[in-house]
Amino acid sequence: MKDEPKELQELRHRLGEIRDLHRASAVLSWDQQTYMPPGGAVARAEQLATLQRTAHVWFISDEIGQLLEALRAPAAEWDYDSDEASLVRVTLRDYEKARRIPPALVAELARASTLAYEAWTKAKAAADFAIFLPHLEKIVDLNIQIAEALGYQDRLYDALLDQYEPDMKTAQVATLFENLKAELVPLVKTIASQTRLGNDAILRRPMDIQKQWDFGLAILRDMGFDFNRGRQDKSVHPFTTAFSIDDVRLTTRLDPNYFPTALFGTIHEGGHGLYEQGLAKTLERTGLDDGASLGIHESQSRLWENLIGRSQAFWYHYFPRLQQMFPEQMGDVDFEDFYQAINAVKPTFIRVEADEVTYNLHIMIRFELENDMLERRVHIRELPEAWNAKMEEYLGIVPPNDALGVLQDVHWSGGMLGYFPTYSLGNLYSVQFFDQAKRDISGLADQIATGHFSELLDWLRQNIHRHGRKYTPAELVARVTGNELTAKNYIDYIKQKFGELYAL
Ligand code: ZN
Repeated sequence: MKDEPKELQELRHRLGEIRDLHRASAVLSWDQQTYMPPGGAVARAEQLATLQRTAHVWFISDEIGQLLEALRAPAAEWDYDSDEASLVRVTLRDYEKARRIPPALVAELARASTLAYEAWTKAKAAADFAIFLPHLEKIVDLNIQIAEALGYQDRLYDALLDQYEPDMKTAQVATLFENLKAELVPLVKTIASQTRLGNDAILRRPMDIQKQWDFGLAILRDMGFDFNRGRQDKSVHPFTTAFSIDDVRLTTRLDPNYFPTALFGTIHEGGHGLYEQGLAKTLERTGLDDGASLGIHESQSRLWENLIGRSQAFWYHYFPRLQQMFPEQMGDVDFEDFYQAINAVKPTFIRVEADEVTYNLHIMIRFELENDMLERRVHIRELPEAWNAKMEEYLGIVPPNDALGVLQDVHWSGGMLGYFPTYSLGNLYSVQFFDQAKRDISGLADQIATGHFSELLDWLRQNIHRHGRKYTPAELVARVTGNELTAKNYIDYIKQKFGELYAL
């Protein structure tokens, strides 16, 4: 834009400084989870709290509000898709939301979460929900207050979900989940009655972790991850973070006795990393230099991990290489056996270990129970029973204790309700995007089967990555696929792939 209004220049300047604080927090928390010695924990918590508090105070300042007000009317005349109009539109939405939550409430949730996290680790170790119960009650109360402060029209949950998936409504998620459930629950029961693919022993042969690391790096390079603008390190829980568009950090975890942990974890985080590296440079330091939502971010990791990394085509190229690298463990393994093993479907207690078919059922349980807690349909002390009943209904298994049941995930102890659906939304978006990519790129399957991903990556960059947070998830899905988000593509994909695998 020629002759940028001075308010826009000033807004950019202030948002740039705020973004610097967020990126600096990212450096500190990346270090905390990779190289920091345990002794650094107490001081690091203070440093992070200071940076985050400062960023929040700067952002909700009256000055930012005045700049946004001055720009509201002129920006409405600018091209909707321009960086300038998007910056004003998205920042106004962020600002109005951030101003609605009283700082004291933010601080109280932060304090409650610190205590809840400690209690949760103890409760999980002891498989004793009672230790966590008073903390979860507090977290739910505070989340209700936050939802009331943010405001909502229909469901209390709308306000919480909106923090992670802008403009997504509870009713829409519930409909998508009902559609999924109607197909997946019977499918899981049919598959569970078979004994065909239960054996994953070939994946549990010990493998040198350095070689596992090298194999993963080679795949990341082939995917197009730029190591001049990023790197990979090790952490207990794999994650991706970015210090700028040109400095993206992946982490992975290596298990000497189960190589899929590192392999699929690396591909998954690589998908997140490609998104961060693919953001338009013009968005750097604006606050729009991030994924459109958690669900859209997860769509990028799931696309690479599942739709590519667990596909037959991908392994046509990589299986001979895997055999070459690990002749003792893989030399005698048949291609079909390998493909079946990495796609074995089996109801399990733990969400993060779940396969593509059962995974979303784990998410539905959390989504339904979160709503039941927030709308007071379930007493929180009765949550373990409610959890186990849903596990039995959807997956046909009952956890033997709460560590393998209601206590397994960290999210609630971190104060987060409304987060879980974004994992399933990511799965749905991923298939809908990928189906569009298949229509747009002729010969995509052949490219994947020969280890060529550049055309796909260009497509993702052009259609999704470069936009950052300019569009809401619904706007982005409509732009890319011409449709709204649906469960249909995902259901068709699952039925086709696992129908073949299980000869259904
Ligand atoms: Zn992810």
